[in-house]
Amino acid sequence: MSKVRFSALKEILGRKPRKIDPVVKRSAIFAEKVFDREKMKLYLSKTAFKAVTEAIDKGKKIDREIAEHIAAGMKNWAIENGATHYTHWFQPLTGTTAEKHDSFFELNPDGSYLEKFSGSQLVQQEPDASSFPSGGIRNTFEARGYTAWDPTSPAFIHGTTLCIPTVFVSYTGEALDVKTPLLRSLSALDEAATAVSRYFHRDVNKVIATLGWEQEYFLIDSAFYKARPDLTLTGRTLMGHQPARGQQLDDHYFGSIPERVMAFMRELEIESLKLGIPVKTRHNEVAPAQFEVAPVFEEANLAVDHNLLLMDIMKKIAHKHHFEVLLHEKPFEGINGSGKHNNWSMMTNTGINLLSPGKTPMKNLEFLVFFINTIKAVNDNEALLRASIASAGNDHRLGANEAPPAIISVFIGEQLTKILQELKNVSSGKLSPQEKTDLKLNVVGKIPEILLDNTDRNRTSPFAFTGNRFEFRAVGSSANTGNPMTILNMIVAKQLREFKKEVDTIIQKDKLKKDEAIFNVLREYIKQSERILFEGDGYSKEWEKEAEKRGLSNAKTTPEALKVYKDKNVKKLFEEMGVLTERELEAKYEVEIEQYAMKVIIEAGVLADMTMNHVIPAAVKYQKELAKVVKNLKNIDSKTYQTLGQEPLKMLKDLSDNIAKVSELVGKLRKDLEKLEKLDWEAKAEKLARKIKPEFDKIRHYTDKLEMMIDDEIWPLSKYREILFIR
Ligand code: ADP
Ligand code: MG
Repeated sequence: MSKVRFSALKEILGRKPRKIDPVVKRSAIFAEKVFDREKMKLYLSKTAFKAVTEAIDKGKKIDREIAEHIAAGMKNWAIENGATHYTHWFQPLTGTTAEKHDSFFELNPDGSYLEKFSGSQLVQQEPDASSFPSGGIRNTFEARGYTAWDPTSPAFIHGTTLCIPTVFVSYTGEALDVKTPLLRSLSALDEAATAVSRYFHRDVNKVIATLGWEQEYFLIDSAFYKARPDLTLTGRTLMGHQPARGQQLDDHYFGSIPERVMAFMRELEIESLKLGIPVKTRHNEVAPAQFEVAPVFEEANLAVDHNLLLMDIMKKIAHKHHFEVLLHEKPFEGINGSGKHNNWSMMTNTGINLLSPGKTPMKNLEFLVFFINTIKAVNDNEALLRASIASAGNDHRLGANEAPPAIISVFIGEQLTKILQELKNVSSGKLSPQEKTDLKLNVVGKIPEILLDNTDRNRTSPFAFTGNRFEFRAVGSSANTGNPMTILNMIVAKQLREFKKEVDTIIQKDKLKKDEAIFNVLREYIKQSERILFEGDGYSKEWEKEAEKRGLSNAKTTPEALKVYKDKNVKKLFEEMGVLTERELEAKYEVEIEQYAMKVIIEAGVLADMTMNHVIPAAVKYQKELAKVVKNLKNIDSKTYQTLGQEPLKMLKDLSDNIAKVSELVGKLRKDLEKLEKLDWEAKAEKLARKIKPEFDKIRHYTDKLEMMIDDEIWPLSKYREILFIR
């Protein structure tokens, strides 16, 4: 073992699990650091409290004067709870979160001082935002971006900072972030879904989207991590021979959690709960060193914020335990990647889950309406949904081992498939009394209240119905899930709007009863959406062929997937639903393409450097040793050389061939990178995806061979088997 690796190993073996204070009652600490309704009630005047609640529940605006009161109350609570600074916490298009800290402390001209936090500081801020990507919007308009308070997500204290969730918009009000379009999509969904749910319940006046995410991640020791420039700079390994023991045994899944990891998980859980993130499950994943954490579902905007917050704190907490969290979608070749399953549904203000079957035929009809409309929305917008999860990292995962393919399809299970088949045969127009009874008893009446056991079997589906919700499984582990959620809300909203229009028209024109009209429309939707339904093995080659026949898209790379944003109809859809204007969508496209290209360019650079600085020098060292052996054997006599010398000579030749091959390929990679310089981002991304990224695999093929050939004493990079199995 090389010196670097040996000292890393020594460090790790000396580690003890960190002591975590036992928390007996989780409910006692829940949301302790959140300025939630309970605390608002204590710290705000009645009028201020009412204003905030109405802003949260009904989207009402908060006027300036009241904002002053709210800010004062919030500040008092924050200072009492140890905060010294505040920040507007926002989500730039780069996919993570950003903050700019300011102190409450203010000095007056006369030398006196106070802790201050005004209404305008709460409601609006102008961060020095020129360095956040904005796809040209800010450049052409005004070199300013503003953050503005989103009262629907409560403020919280992180460390000693009061964090205020905000949107980030340009001077002219255009979205520069992920949250703004998400909020707009939620309001579009609210409007459309409320209108439809009123067919069934007169008392519904609001519908929210619910989201329960499941976050997968790798947890590795920081000493090994530091010994890998690729991990530290790109979040994934760019080379590394697979260990003899991988995940073949599947013994890690639900296995016992190692003590040091357990300590980390406990601290993460406690901190999450304090911040109001209702984490609930923790377990091992299939791959070695891979784990998952999942909370109970919440309103989608809040759930997205909580996921971003969790991704941030888990890294920080990991450091205290000498761990490193890897959120990359594919940190290790040949080992499962990480995803973020998104359990999504819609819920009325009266507490009804619109995607849950129930006891009565009426509830089940309602269920079918939302169920089938969602399927139709996915069918009509499958390419858009694919684009919503596109990233350089996720490209590795889609289609790889144990991950949903790049083709979007919907899995609904055997029982519901049968029900849809029967609905397809409902006759058009008016229904006979016999048919009505039949439908009531044999179709709608037959949907069991709980479908859970019959679904969730197909783990290969990217979009599966799991009993009372859909589970979008193709989302990447590092993604800001606000992106896919925005698209999903938007397409379902659009679909429900259409549905309502069609049903109302039929009721008026054809003088049909409401139920009859609904059955008529649903029947057509089922016929129109059949191609998206797939119950088979999503990882199989046959499915790829079949999907192509069905006309489903199969965009394997990000640049390919993102093209859909340039489609005229897609632009119209975003405009019509009030989610993004054409310019905002263009900006989003530009930023995402640029992000992709930048990431791959960095990877290329790191790969080239690592090969030249680590791999080749080690190989040359070993080459020298082998050469010495060959020479010594030759010096004995020619007979010895003829017999004993052949093997080392062959090794030397092999090694030298590989060294030559690697240097040649790296030389080519460097030249290709230089040629990129004069291209625009779109052309760069296209070239990187099509031409340059495949070169990585070729280089890796040889570096991995070298890793196997070279004496373990000399190899400088921590190996897969060390990173994945030693804790
Ligand atoms: P699995 O690993 O089998 O997919 P988990 O229990 O890990 O299941 O995760 C299920 C997630 O789905 C949880 O976050 C749960 O709160 C969420 N969920 C359950 N019901 C709904 C719903 N109606 N809307 C959104 N999410 C839901
Ligand atoms: Mg799941």
